[in-house]
Amino acid sequence: MEKYSIKMRASQNIRGRNLHISGAEKIVSKEQVKTYAEALVERGLNHSKGNADLLNIKIEKINEEDILYLNAPSVTTTRTESVEEGREEIIKFLKDLHIERIDEVMHFLDETYAMRGAMLLDIRTMKRMEPDYMRGIRATYMDKERDTVGIIHNNDEKKDGNHDEEKKCYEKNHYEEAVVLATKVMNCPGMIGEICISDDPDYVTGYVASKIHGYRRITKIKEQGSDKGGRIFLFDSEVATVEEAIEFLQNKRVIVRGIKELEKKRTECQNKKTNKWDRLEKKVQEFHEKNIYRTMKKITSAQGSHITVDGRELVLMASNSYLDLTAHPYIKQRCHAIVDRYGFGSGGSRLTTGNTDLHEKLEEKIAEFKGCESSIVFNTGYVANLAVISAMTEPDDIIFSDELNHASIIDGCRLSKAKCIIYKHNDMNDLEMKIRENPCKNGLVVSDAVFSMDGDILNLPEFIRICKEHNLFSMVDEAHSTGVIGETGHGIVEYFGNIYKPDILMGTLSKSIGGEGGYVAGTRILIDYLRNTARGFIFSTSLSPVTIAADLAGIELIEKEPQRIEKLRNNIRFFCNCLAENGIMVKSDTAIIPIIVGDEKKAMELSEYLYNNGFYISAIRYPTVKKGEARLRVALMSGHTQAELEKVAKLIGKYYTNL
Ligand code: PMP
Repeated sequence: MEKYSIKMRASQNIRGRNLHISGAEKIVSKEQVKTYAEALVERGLNHSKGNADLLNIKIEKINEEDILYLNAPSVTTTRTESVEEGREEIIKFLKDLHIERIDEVMHFLDETYAMRGAMLLDIRTMKRMEPDYMRGIRATYMDKERDTVGIIHNNDEKKDGNHDEEKKCYEKNHYEEAVVLATKVMNCPGMIGEICISDDPDYVTGYVASKIHGYRRITKIKEQGSDKGGRIFLFDSEVATVEEAIEFLQNKRVIVRGIKELEKKRTECQNKKTNKWDRLEKKVQEFHEKNIYRTMKKITSAQGSHITVDGRELVLMASNSYLDLTAHPYIKQRCHAIVDRYGFGSGGSRLTTGNTDLHEKLEEKIAEFKGCESSIVFNTGYVANLAVISAMTEPDDIIFSDELNHASIIDGCRLSKAKCIIYKHNDMNDLEMKIRENPCKNGLVVSDAVFSMDGDILNLPEFIRICKEHNLFSMVDEAHSTGVIGETGHGIVEYFGNIYKPDILMGTLSKSIGGEGGYVAGTRILIDYLRNTARGFIFSTSLSPVTIAADLAGIELIEKEPQRIEKLRNNIRFFCNCLAENGIMVKSDTAIIPIIVGDEKKAMELSEYLYNNGFYISAIRYPTVKKGEARLRVALMSGHTQAELEKVAKLIGKYYTNL
């Protein structure tokens, strides 16, 4: 395909001197030469700076083999309100490039105003390297990649004028041509960056460009009406010679690819920016329409099996405080004593000033309770999962995760750079198959111990066998198993006879323990490693000593008052029987009893109906559970009475059979 370079230069003759007013160039196919040449003539003749007295058009054939194709850089916009802010941006840019004599560069920038071409500044010596100071350096022979046949697209050669549309085309030309030029310059041997301010009085936007920054527009860099424009090429004489650089800038044929896509993106982004709140409003509206809009109830009493909401007494069957410990007198008494001595805030992260004797005592207690060498406390269970999963894995690792794992595990996988493979819920055959299909040197298998929305229990023996066989870390989230399953409430390991032990036992202090926080228990080396790598631990202010004291007291109470676990277990059995008597067959060994409704709206209505009858049970909807699997999530507590359980089972049964 034959290509031609077309260059146009227009000037005015003022008092015997030729004053440049417009210049442009294109690289086009033979068929396009005539159209583009005409458009450039039109542009030169009718410029906002005035009509040309002299117009040069040079058309030259160029060889395809000589053309260097470059990709368009990223384009960003920094909004500045004043010239000072604009100059600050330039200074920042120079700092990024590790240029030491910034003041001198800024001074040189002012000197470029009278120049026709660009200044070529050696950043090592701060010497100007252009052979002719007045003329400066001009980069030529470059264009964006354009369709090779056909006429002009997008009116891209329309003349400037007062009409808005035409003005837009003109600005677009300006912008595209500037990106093309900047691309050529930033790819020039020895070039580390460029600063450009247009000399067009109507154009106050300038740019800085480098391979690191891409093309960065600065919206206000000079005053409206000012013709003080200039351009500096920042050149490193230790990387290339001046001759090489000038040869490249003036003679190398360059076509820049991807400008069209850039323009498309830019337009899309601009349109989006004008209505940034629309998306939020639309989403909230959608939540309402799909019955997944969330509201909160205001509780004005302690979290227990009986609570007060808006002045009404209700039976709470939605809380994770399974052992009804949150307002236990012992916990309250411990908190009072600690707040008197320590106050409240911890004042720093654990590794700085937020580590008290209580924090360490709690970790020792958790380790003992979980039968592990050591443990580490996080601010929440959510943070624990994020921090641990991301700390335990590297980019080439694989995480195998149950499809019904808690959101915090999912988010931990997302945060980690490892690949994540989801296996079917509690399906150990599928897990093993996926492990075989995806061999990895290092990996982690992670699962809830008790699934938070379904209440079923992980097949721990198989889970551990598979992890051991494939040499993968095993991680189990004990949020809903601690204090609930196992003879003495020690969780899933105890439930399966203290034989199978995951490498990483993660849990929360916010559920049956009745406090707040998350933890991981395991070997000394695991905990040591996490203390040094888990970002959620390192970079967050630690929990208040008061909270820590409550957590400690909660664990002590689980050991001191085993009757609570017994009572909870009886309630689970009793309630499942009551449901069966009312036509709802559910089986659960845990405090979580899901009653599947399906439809989101109906689940909400059932929850509302129970609420009006004195029972607070949450309806769980998408995205917490899959679409169309909305449910009541009954969470039993040791403090519920059999009379209450009987009554609510009847109410649910009555409503459910009429669904
Ligand atoms: N894991 C599971 C299984 C959970 O259910 C939850 C909380 N609902 C968490 C982790 C997060 O724990 P926390 O509420 O302490 O942040």
